[in-house]
This record gives sequence, structure tokens and C-alpha cells, in this order.
Amino acid sequence: MYWSKLYAPTLKEVPSDADIKSAELLVRGGFIRKSASGIFSYLPLGTKVLQKITQIVREEMNRTGAQELLMPIMQPAEIWKITGRWEDYGPEMMKLKDRNDREFTLGPTHEEMITTLVKDELRSYKQLPVNFYQINTKYRDEIRPRFGLLRGREFIMKDAYSFHTSYESLDKTYKDMYDAYSRICERMDLKYVAVEADTGAIGGSNSHEFTAFAESGESDILVCDNCGYAATQEKAECLEDDLKIDEDQKPLKLVETPNVRTVEELSKFLNVDKRRIVKSMIFVGRNGYIMAMIRGDLEINTAKLKSYLGDQTLRLATGEEVYQKFSTQIGYIGPIGVNARIIADRSVKPLVNYIVGGLKNEYHYVNVNHGRDFKINEYADIRMVVEGDKCPKCGHELKMKKGIEVGQVFKLGTKYSEKLSATYVDSDGNEKYYIMGCYGWGVSRTMAAVVEQFHDDRGIIWPRSIAPFEVVITVVNVAGDQMKIGYELHDLIEKNGIDVILDDREVSAGFKFKDADLIGIPLRITCGKSLENGEVELKLRNSDKSLKVKIDDKDYLIEKVKELLELYKPGDQVGNI
Ligand code: ATP
Ligand code: MG
Repeated sequence: MYWSKLYAPTLKEVPSDADIKSAELLVRGGFIRKSASGIFSYLPLGTKVLQKITQIVREEMNRTGAQELLMPIMQPAEIWKITGRWEDYGPEMMKLKDRNDREFTLGPTHEEMITTLVKDELRSYKQLPVNFYQINTKYRDEIRPRFGLLRGREFIMKDAYSFHTSYESLDKTYKDMYDAYSRICERMDLKYVAVEADTGAIGGSNSHEFTAFAESGESDILVCDNCGYAATQEKAECLEDDLKIDEDQKPLKLVETPNVRTVEELSKFLNVDKRRIVKSMIFVGRNGYIMAMIRGDLEINTAKLKSYLGDQTLRLATGEEVYQKFSTQIGYIGPIGVNARIIADRSVKPLVNYIVGGLKNEYHYVNVNHGRDFKINEYADIRMVVEGDKCPKCGHELKMKKGIEVGQVFKLGTKYSEKLSATYVDSDGNEKYYIMGCYGWGVSRTMAAVVEQFHDDRGIIWPRSIAPFEVVITVVNVAGDQMKIGYELHDLIEKNGIDVILDDREVSAGFKFKDADLIGIPLRITCGKSLENGEVELKLRNSDKSLKVKIDDKDYLIEKVKELLELYKPGDQVGNI
């Protein structure tokens, strides 16, 4: 490829709406252009990178025996109405009508579609297990489309769906997909962790998220450096700190606490440790109001509470709702005398003589003891784990990291097959529901995640496997003899199966170097002044040193190119090339 023929409009200026480094660099580097909020075009360079990512994903899927197919983006509403997700998916779902007023969605995901597609023909246990995947455009009308390709409204996903006759078989495919995802990350040099994840609205029993580390990421994850435990904050667990309070129960007292609402204010006002206070919070869900309690120094994790109650509609009640129902302001809500199901975090269990809201404005109870003063219906782990909490596996301190979710694997079980009456005939002749798994990978998001991990102040530093070109030959003076060498090297490198571009543009060498760095090509070969000594200069994108190599020995030269490309890792400086 010759650069003079390439459409790669690079920009010097930072686009005014670039809210993250990858969005800036992918636009400046001429990879993508925004068309509307969360909707992008891929220019030739962007398309090349996307194709390379897609190819890696495809190869790893095929390696597990998954079969590629392609489903429609536009899906009839009926199938979504059967599972209830036409409503449940909420405003994220893009909906449209045809000329006859029939409703459709631009698919945000394809569980309904794949299940209805196969259910009448995938009938025998002998045909199972089977795993299908597609690489296709998805639509989600995200509340906040932002961060360029990271959170788009139109984006490319690889989604796979597996069908089984047993949970053992599902476990095996789940493991195969997990391993495939690990290999995908490794092939792109991504620094990542597979974390235990909440299954959220998709449901099912088990899930892992593949998270690429990045300060700019939207996922909060807790990791243990000691044993490798890793989980999203929504799901993370920790050891209980063994708080021992050796006291006899004291008489319950209602005390006046005017204008004191928060744990912070209360602990100052009564001069007590926050751990002697218990917060009571009112949530509202499908079955009405519930009270959740937790020790004063900790926070409630709504995702855990949702999953404990199996109610994704659960949310914190507003001040107004609480007042209407309990005639008490939020800051004074408490469990004594309350008419609601009470779920307490495990941290409440060992406490004695603690403080709670008075269920009466401007009052709190002190010396509260559950069992004696009120009844806790059930204990659950509903605690938000934070940095410094103890690893649930080994007790070591957990660290909090930020990351970008690039993929997720789920065990769905029979959730969709039951709703869609999707059955097969088992060896005993009985109709049974398919047991299913689903596995999503954000293909376009990966492009941005990689750039988030690998860039410097000059531009992108692509991993070799998905770089738009592996080698750029920069001819300093295109008017002179250097050009001839440039062409020769280009053909030689190309013949060796390496993706190479020759920068033959009539612009200054400085301009070319800047573009090559911005675009992030791993290896640069400069045909310049040193050609007078019969040499070209080889330089890796993430190194400041260059190596002079004689051009008369072509075998040696090509070996050197290959060796450097092998050595190259976008994350690490290769100092002494
Ligand atoms: P998130 O929590 O980031 O919204 P999700 O849990 O909704 O992600 P899935 O439904 O599991 O995502 O989709 C599979 C993959 O598709 C994700 O792991 C992610 O890589 C990608 N993806 C999801 N939403 C978007 C989006 N709005 N833009 C780009 N990629 C996305
Ligand atoms: Mg989402």
C-alpha cells in the first residue's frame, strides 16, 4: 500500500467533543468519524483495524467449534413481547414501525431471535450441544452515549448462543468460551482480568466479565493481588470484619436528635463510632416496600440486593414515597415498629446497643438490640465492597481498579427457552427445555479499549496483531534515489507476508514521522540520509532508539524486521533494539 493513495485524513487539533483519549486519537488518526451521538463511520484505517479484531475473534470462536451465522438486525416485536423484554428492556431499545404499523426493534441483543430461529428444527438431543455466533451491528439507545466507540448507540458485537441438554455440557462450553476470550485478549496484548460479575437483567446463574484495565474505564473492579480473586464491584464479596462487642444489653431509649439525619451528623452529635449506628433504607420493588439495614460505616450495594430478592425493578424509594408510606423523613427511618420486610446485611448481626432512626421525625433510638426490640426477617450479603476490604478467598486486602468491559459470558439456563417454549426431544423421548449460554464480545469497543491502554502523547501504539499496518517505510526525500529503495523494500516486506505501507507523499519528513506515530504503526523504516552509507533506520513505535541496517543483505534485513516485530509489545518499552 502506498500512503499517497490512502484516505487517512489526520488532524492536528483535538476534536472539541473528544471526551476520552481513544476518541481523540481515533478521530485525529483518521480511523473514525462521528455521524451522530454514539454513531460512527469507520474510515479505511478504522475498517482495517476492525477487520483484524474481527478476524481474531472469528478464529477463536471457530477454534471452539462455534458456527458462524448472521441474523437480522431488525427483529419483530412479537418475540420480545413473549419474553416480556419489549417492556423490560426499557428505553435503551430502539423501536420502529413499518408502513403497516408493525413494530420492530433494531436488536440490542439476540437471545429471542436465535431461540426462535432454531427451536422448531433443532429438535433432537443428538444435535446438541451446539454454539452459534454472529458478528453484527447492535443498537442500544444508551442514556449517555459517550467515550467514542466505548459506549456507542450503534456498535459491533460478536454474540454467541449455546444450546445444551445438561448443565455439565453448558459448563464445558462456558469454559471454552472463557478460554477463547482469554486468548483474544492475549492476542491483542490487552492487560485484562476476568471478573465474577452480576448477571443483572439478562438473568441466569453465572457470569464473568472480561475487563481491560484502564483508568478511564467505567467498570469498578476489586482484585486480590495475593490469590487472583477478581469481581465487579456490583458482585464483589468480602470477609466480615470480626467486630466483637462485649456488652450486656442496655435499656432502649428514644432520644431527640433535631436536624441530625446522616450517619456522619449522628456520630458527631452523639459522639459515637459510626460502627455503632445502623442505617435503615427503604427500597421499592415489585412487591412493595422493603427495609434494608447495614452498619453505619458501610454502604448498601443495590445490585446485590436486587439479585438477592430476584427483583431487577428494585430501587431506592424517594423521600416523598417514604414520607407517604411511613410518615417519617428519610433520615429518621428505623426498624422499630416499621411495617416492612427487613433485610439486614451480615454486618448488623454481631452488633448490640446500637443506634437506629426513631421512625419519628427528629428522633433516634439508642441501645437498640435486634431480637429484643425488633425482628430482622433475614440476613444477606448486601454490602458494597471497597478498597481495603478483605478478600473473601484469602483475607488479603482488596484493591480497587478501573476497567473497560470488553466481553461477558453468561450461563442463562432455561430462562429464554421456557419463555419461548423452545424444547428438544431427549433420549428418553421427553420434551425438554434447552439449557442455554450466551457470550458477548464488544468488537468496536475493543478498538477503543486497546487505544486507551496503548498510547502516548504522540498518538496510538497499536499491538502488532491489529495495527492497520505493521510496518511503515518513510521515504524522507521522495524526489531523489531514496524512492527506489523505498519501493524495493515495500515489495520485499510485502512478499514476506507483512502488512506494510510506503509513505511516498510529497510532504516533509517531520510531517510523515508525526503521522506514523499518530496512527501508531509498530515499526518504522526510514529511508533517509543514512542511505549514503547503504543503510536504513529501523525504529519501533514505543522506543526512542533506532537501529541502522545495511540494505545490501536483504535476508538479514528482513530477518531483522521480523525479529523486531516479534520483540515489540505495545505496553513495554523495548530499550535496546
Ligand atoms: P455495559 O455494562 O458496558 O453497558 P453490557 O453489560 O450492557 O455492557 P452486554 O450486553 O454483555 O454489555 O454486551 C456484550 C458486549 O458488548 C459488552 O461486553 C461490551 O463489550 C459491548 N457493548 C455493550 N454495550 C456497548 C455499547 N453501548 N457500545 C459499545 N460496545 C458495547
Ligand atoms: Mg449496557
